[in-house]
Amino acid sequence: MKHYDVAVIGLGIVGASAAYAAAWAGARVLALDAGAPGAGTSGTSFAWLNAVRKEPEVYHRLNAAGMTAHRELSRELGGDAGYHDGGSLEWAAGGDEEHELRERVHRLASRGYPAEWISRERATGSEPGLAIPDHVHEVAFYAADAWLDAPRLIGRLLAAASARGAEVRDGTPIRSLRARGDRIEALVGDASETVATSFLVCVGPATQAFLEPLRVVIPVGRVPGLLVVTSRSAEPLHRVVHSPGIHLRPDASGGLLLGAEDVDTLAANADAPRPPSELAALLLERAGRVFPSARHVKVVDARIGVRPMPGDRHTIAGRIPGFVNGWVIATHSGVTLGPLLGRLLADEIVRGVPSSMLTPFGPERFMTAGATTV
Ligand SMILES: Cc1cc2nc3c(=O)[nH]c(=O)nc-3n(C[C@H](O)[C@H](O)[C@H](O)COP(=O)(O)OP(=O)(O)OC[C@H]3O[C@@H](n4cnc5c(N)ncnc54)[C@H](O)[C@@H]3O)c2cc1C
Repeated sequence: MKHYDVAVIGLGIVGASAAYAAAWAGARVLALDAGAPGAGTSGTSFAWLNAVRKEPEVYHRLNAAGMTAHRELSRELGGDAGYHDGGSLEWAAGGDEEHELRERVHRLASRGYPAEWISRERATGSEPGLAIPDHVHEVAFYAADAWLDAPRLIGRLLAAASARGAEVRDGTPIRSLRARGDRIEALVGDASETVATSFLVCVGPATQAFLEPLRVVIPVGRVPGLLVVTSRSAEPLHRVVHSPGIHLRPDASGGLLLGAEDVDTLAANADAPRPPSELAALLLERAGRVFPSARHVKVVDARIGVRPMPGDRHTIAGRIPGFVNGWVIATHSGVTLGPLLGRLLADEIVRGVPSSMLTPFGPERFMTAGATTV
């Protein structure tokens, strides 16, 4: 029977990054996904690479390090690996929102994050298709922000991992992990079991349900969001833009990608869900106000994605409580954080070098005394 050093379960941006890093570190890697790699949340994400609203500071720094890891990875892989730089722009409606944005830009800049105010003329100079309201004289610019074609990067990571000897399997659901004492022994699939020395669980929004049979409770909620893809606009958009009531960016298809936080809430309302077509029309109407070229595009797709949301909203990355050879990563902002978290946990698993950066983010923070498992 073939032996693997590391089995990675789940190949979204997080698992694909970990599989790549573990193969790079010399491990014999088995990487599997229930469906097609990248077809989970990572394929239905706004995928803005940023550390703009990530508090407290330790979480901000983790996300900023995640952005650096993306730049390094993009250089390492070469060619088109899905990384699109150019920064991002944001303005507020006025009043309390303007105040919050001014405080935030100041706080980010004082931490060394590229955050500054630029004139509306400079903003429209770099983004001629924008219609910034007259009352907005300055726009926040975050020069290091980017967006990611996540499915493309996932494909490149898995191809590079395969080239280093990793075995990548799609359409392979894992029913459970078989454990004895404090060791995980095997992956239990539909028809067979597979043994490995170490196991890394990267199943995104399925994390809590996946770990329950091990009698481990790690709170990871499922928070839906709606994104709309449009046809190509006459005027191109070059970067991520956040304005009151709508955020937009270029989509990998050549159209626009649209979203809004309050529309996510409407889409997620289980009691009275609004049809995606109605919400898509709302997003399109809002986009047309700040990017007039969007008044002439059509909705091509309306996608609901499900965010994996840790109980305290911060990254979970570390050893599964109660097990010496099992690890888990579950996180929101996983597109920003995937390459960093994958690399740090691969280092811990393969080289035995834990990262102090992850100390505040271990899963054991959810375990109360005497309740490590249920
Ligand atoms: C609308 C929306 C907007 C977002 N915007 C941003 C943003 O701007 N920036 C950002 O950084 N993040 C953003 N996020 C969050 C980000 O997309 C997620 O945190 C990230 O995609 C999670 O990646 P993942 O690899 O953990 O999960 P996934 O991409 O869901 O991958 C998990 C994989 O595990 C597989 N799997 C599950 N169960 C099993 C099993 N039993 N056996 C085998 N395989 C299994 C699935 O098939 C899936 O492919 C957004 C999310 C949404 C929904």
